Amino acid sequence: MNCPKCRTGALVPTRVQAVEVDQCPQCRGIWFDEQELGHLLAAKPGDLKPLTRGNDAGTDCVTGACPRDGKELLRVRSARDPQIVVDVCPQCRGIWLDGGEFGRLRQGK
Ligand SMILES: [Zn+2]
Ligand SMILES: [Zn+2]
Repeated sequence: MNCPKCRTGALVPTRVQAVEVDQCPQCRGIWFDEQELGHLLAAKPGDLKPLTRGNDAGTDCVTGACPRDGKELLRVRSARDPQIVVDVCPQCRGIWLDGGEFGRLRQGK
């Protein structure tokens, strides 16, 4: 799978607890399948370091295509924090978070 945002990087599987997510080594964005994000937001903080690295790499305002099925991702404000715009696939319901957004979502105000 290629990164939907910077498009040059191949996503690298990253195992966190029992969940395998796919992360872009360049822009640090992360692809979560439908159930994975909720699961990891509820997980213990100590195990999540790999997901909180990175910061806004300028990819937030870019529209990308789903790395799984190629559908255009919808930009949606997070219910947890409306300041954060996440990218959701209308087909498979996977979620893309740009670099640093996972950490911000976890702080969830
Ligand atoms: Zn990328
Ligand atoms: Zn999809």
